[in-house]
Amino acid sequence: MSAKKKIGPLDIYALLPKTNCGKCEPGVCMAFAARLAEHTISLEECPPLWEKGQEANLKKLQEMLKPPVKEVKIGEVKVGGQLVVRRHEYRYFNPVPLAVTLDDTLPEVDLLKRIKKVEEYGYSYIGKTLKLDMLAPRYVSGDPSKFEATVKKASLSKLPLVLWCTDPGVMEKAVALVKERRPLLYAATRENWKEMAELALKYGCPLALYSPHDLKGLKSLAKTMLAYGVQDLLLDPGVGFGEELRETINCFTVLRNTAIRGGDEEVGFPLVASTARVWEDGGRKPEELAWEETALATLLMVRYADLIILRSEEVWSWLPLIILRENIYTDPRKPVSVEAGMRAIGQVNENSPVMVTSNFALTYFTVASDIENSKVPSYLIVVDTGGLSVESSIAGRKMTAQTIADAIKASGVKDKVKHRKVILPGMAARYKGELEELLGFEWEVLVGPRDSSGIPKFLADHWK
Ligand code: SF4
Repeated sequence: MSAKKKIGPLDIYALLPKTNCGKCEPGVCMAFAARLAEHTISLEECPPLWEKGQEANLKKLQEMLKPPVKEVKIGEVKVGGQLVVRRHEYRYFNPVPLAVTLDDTLPEVDLLKRIKKVEEYGYSYIGKTLKLDMLAPRYVSGDPSKFEATVKKASLSKLPLVLWCTDPGVMEKAVALVKERRPLLYAATRENWKEMAELALKYGCPLALYSPHDLKGLKSLAKTMLAYGVQDLLLDPGVGFGEELRETINCFTVLRNTAIRGGDEEVGFPLVASTARVWEDGGRKPEELAWEETALATLLMVRYADLIILRSEEVWSWLPLIILRENIYTDPRKPVSVEAGMRAIGQVNENSPVMVTSNFALTYFTVASDIENSKVPSYLIVVDTGGLSVESSIAGRKMTAQTIADAIKASGVKDKVKHRKVILPGMAARYKGELEELLGFEWEVLVGPRDSSGIPKFLADHWK
């Protein structure tokens, strides 16, 4: 089967009211169509489209814009909604939420500590704080009251919930406690599918289907659920490390390709990777299992998990995942940039150094952090390079002697410092002479290190 045809703004525009009424944020229909094609606005934001007489067009638009991998809400978090198999074909939507299990065998004090640790975990990266997303109470004790107690404790947190339990009777009591939070019911299997489907319908919750390394069985389960009326599904094809790794990756890849390239709606649902299952391979050291789980989760984040359920509570095992996620889920068509202009880093004064960098976010935050490490408060002139790094922007003529001179003049730094020295990134050394000329020979241009990690040493040697 062929891939779904890419929808362009003109296809969409033809079905909009075309009145340019100004009731949406872009204000005109063509711009709204362009935003819809980019998936940066939703049909709900065009009120006239929902009025009487527009039903047929609305239906066509809904069908046209429907992603081949359905977007499903767990609490307030959206998962799935993917349009392409490979990120560079367009972009990925809805960064993979990371859920952490809460076994109902944990003593209360450990349970509360674990919840707190997940809630409070955060890592600063390129100006953002990266965090974990969900809690997954897990029924392992065999005692329904313990599971209920664990769910109650988890529900004190605002994080969305995944209820991990395959016993429908136990699940019902737990879901009744938190139904308004729209938790994910994890999971329906070949054995319990009917009761789980009824719970999903009764409480209006999304439902995960679990059929390990059995794609036919998983698809058949999904087909049955759809026929039963359960529409918000997630699919878990099972995980395994070691000898099962190839099969694991294969299952995820086949499901995603079949949904997007094959257009098979019965598997067009977000994929769950319960890497916590790695820990079921007992008798091994916890560090080994945590390592295996992290390695598997990283692989599956790339191929093509939409939700990952983790067991490890080691910070070192979470870190690669949140950073990888941040890198995969940015829009590859748009460099990540910061606003151009002047920044004061630290308690600057009239003797503080003046440095120059690009507005590529990664470059900016790295340079800013290296300046902080130098303990020399400094002014940093951020040149608008269209979000390109220093090296790329020089090659692409986005950073030139002229753009640097313009940025220095526009910054007003001249009134902030009494010296007249500016430090260029080492890679921009070629601009030294031209920049001095453009600045009327009022400023001495120093050439800084090629790598910003050399800033502390450079300042120690050259800024007395
Ligand atoms: S609200 Fe709808 S009809 Fe009005 S301008 Fe926007 S897209 Fe056009």
